[in-house]
Amino acid sequence: MAIKTYLRISELQQAVTEARAEGKAIGFVPTMGALHAGHLSLIEKVQQHSQFIVVSIFVNPKQFGPQEDFSTYPRMVKSDVEALSHCGVDAVFLPTAAEIYPQGFQTYVNNMDMASKLCGQYRENHFQGVLTVVLKLFHIVIPDVAAFGKKDYQQYKLITRMAVDFHLPVKIIGGEIVREEDGLAMSSRNLKLNNQDRQTAPALYAALQAANHRFTTGERHIATLKKIFVEKLQNSALQVQYAEILSQNSLQDFASDTIDEPAVFAVAAFLGGVRLIDNIELGL
Ligand code: AMP
Repeated sequence: MAIKTYLRISELQQAVTEARAEGKAIGFVPTMGALHAGHLSLIEKVQQHSQFIVVSIFVNPKQFGPQEDFSTYPRMVKSDVEALSHCGVDAVFLPTAAEIYPQGFQTYVNNMDMASKLCGQYRENHFQGVLTVVLKLFHIVIPDVAAFGKKDYQQYKLITRMAVDFHLPVKIIGGEIVREEDGLAMSSRNLKLNNQDRQTAPALYAALQAANHRFTTGERHIATLKKIFVEKLQNSALQVQYAEILSQNSLQDFASDTIDEPAVFAVAAFLGGVRLIDNIELGL
């Protein structure tokens, strides 16, 4: 079936309803566009469980702070739709902000625990914006399965939690981080790096790998692992915003100073005004 684009909620819903009536399971991948292989890997994931695939492209204004990069976020809808037309996607949802947020909009979703960690400390209301738009998109699409990348580890955990907390009839799948050949985690924001910063950027993952190497060879002391990461970037243009080792399960700090259950080492850093995030799972 040829790919179709939808600007209106009602039109998308009609297409999804028809697909469901044909007995197809609905797979959904929400994105903000400027698509790359990370996004495409999530499409492949949902294709394993569903026959009608919806991808949304919506740069959600409510998840950007006033000082953040909403206005300069990469937008390239035409080439995105072209790329999706080769991936077995059936429907691309391209709503306007007015379509998603009706006049007088005033109802939000808030996580009261995990959202305050990691990026939540620095991006006020970011996860409120994410959870609100994802819940809205879930209500619009009513997918059987939806995929989220572990690149945005905290987001993936929060959405998984929301699905449980709100009894959402959707299976949430996590996708592994897709990286460039030099190790940099793929991100739409990488397009905003200048040539020199693009050369520097892989150092973020290299520093995580250095810590992970020590972890795999037996180091369990959290402060030591963090130190390895920070020292690796000491003379780099990368300005670390946070480097934290939390429980994978709860996204809370460990009660002791050593890792005694599966952990995630999550980091954020600025490079030439571009904010990069990355993480590595420290499995036991
Ligand atoms: P975004 O367009 O950045 O909002 O991302 C849309 C989805 O793609 C989210 O679930 C992200 O976690 C996921 N994603 C972004 N970058 C990657 C990556 N490098 N590897 C895997 N998933 C990713």
